[in-house]
Amino acid sequence: MVRVLEEEATLGMMPLVALVLTGTLFVVDPGHGTRFPDGRSLNVGAVSKSGIREAAVTLAVGERLAALLRARGARVVLTRSFARPYRIATNKNRDNRARAALANRLGATAFVAVHCDASLDVAARGTSVFWLKPNSATLAKTIRHKLAPLALGESQFRARDLAVTSEAIVPAVLVELGFITNPAQARTLTNSAFQEREATALADALSERFGNHAEAAR
Ligand SMILES: [Zn+2]
Repeated sequence: MVRVLEEEATLGMMPLVALVLTGTLFVVDPGHGTRFPDGRSLNVGAVSKSGIREAAVTLAVGERLAALLRARGARVVLTRSFARPYRIATNKNRDNRARAALANRLGATAFVAVHCDASLDVAARGTSVFWLKPNSATLAKTIRHKLAPLALGESQFRARDLAVTSEAIVPAVLVELGFITNPAQARTLTNSAFQEREATALADALSERFGNHAEAAR
């Protein structure tokens, strides 16, 4: 039993140690959080009955993801950050397209948008991964695989024409981290340890898809 666990631990550690992200650039997009120039809210995102704001959860997870990726050697550009939590725009769709267009302009390795799902059905639960173009399908599958152990369930996994997935030329996914309208999932989404697990799942998927074995040996 102990021997098996040790072997599993060793095997489990290897990809994290060996895969580095040197030479990669990711655009991480914490969903929503856009204001009109006069300060009124333009794109607020979902709000749970208990007052949890999607835009706050996506920003926290996005910043954690950025930190994990940077620690592995990647360059990361956030479309919103703790330092600059609000985007300024006058049109929600155009602003979402601009987020993906930034990744195109920078020639990013990939674009990752993070969101929280919402439903009138409080029992609705699970993560979703959306992509559109064929260059994004492998990343979407890898993220799905890494999110599965979090046991949030799966809501949707499919190609979907969204502002960001349609605008992006670089590999692009939109991830729903869980349902903010489901009381149990809202608790996990606001738990900092769980936010770290979600961010780690995404970082591990990006490492698996875009990581470089050769760099680690140098
Ligand atoms: Zn959203």
